[in-house]
Amino acid sequence: ETVEMNRYLDETIERFEMIASDKNIDFHRKLNKKSIYAKIDRDKMTQVLDNIISNAMKYSPEGGTVKIRLLLQGKNIRLSISDQGMGIPRESQTKIFERFYRVDKARARSVGGTGLGLAIAKELIQAHGGHIWAQSEYGKGTTIFITLPYASKGAKS
Ligand code: ATP
Ligand code: MG
Repeated sequence: ETVEMNRYLDETIERFEMIASDKNIDFHRKLNKKSIYAKIDRDKMTQVLDNIISNAMKYSPEGGTVKIRLLLQGKNIRLSISDQGMGIPRESQTKIFERFYRVDKARARSVGGTGLGLAIAKELIQAHGGHIWAQSEYGKGTTIFITLPYASKGAKS
C-alpha cells in the first residue's frame, strides 16, 4: 500500500498524545512540507512505531520530550524518534535488536516488557527493504533511525 508518510505519522503521534498525557510527555514533530510516499504495510509499520514510541516513553522521565522527524535522503525516507531518557550504553546499542535482550535486567524489570519489540521491528523494517539502528548517549537520550525506500506517488501498491 502506498502511504503518505506525513499524514500517517501525524495520525500515529495523535494517537500517542491521547495516551501519553498521564506521563506528561511532549511530542514534537518535524515533518516534511512535501508529500512523502512509501510503500508500506500499514499494520506492520504501526507495530514498529508503537514499540519505538512506547520505548521512548517508557524509558523517559516524566515531562520529557519525544521528537519525531521525517526527511528525504536520496532514494530513502529517513525517520527518527528521539527521547531524552536514560540512554543505552554503547556496547548495547546493537544488542537491543536481538530477541529478549534488555539493557540491565534490574532496570528493565521495573518497566515491564519482554525484550522482543525491537527484534520484531528490525525484522519488519528489513522486510520493507529498510534499515533500523540506534544512536544513544548513556544518561542523555536515544534516537532510533529508520530508513525506507521512497516510493513515487503513482506507484502501484
Ligand atoms: P517489549 O518491547 O517486548 O515490550 P522491551 O521494551 O524491553 O520489551 P525492546 O523494545 O526490544 O524490548 O527493547 C530492548 C531493550 O532496549 C529495552 O529493554 C531497553 O533496555 C532498551 N531500550 C529500548 N529503547 C530504549 C530507549 N528509547 N531508551 C533507553 N533504552 C531503550
Ligand atoms: Mg519495547
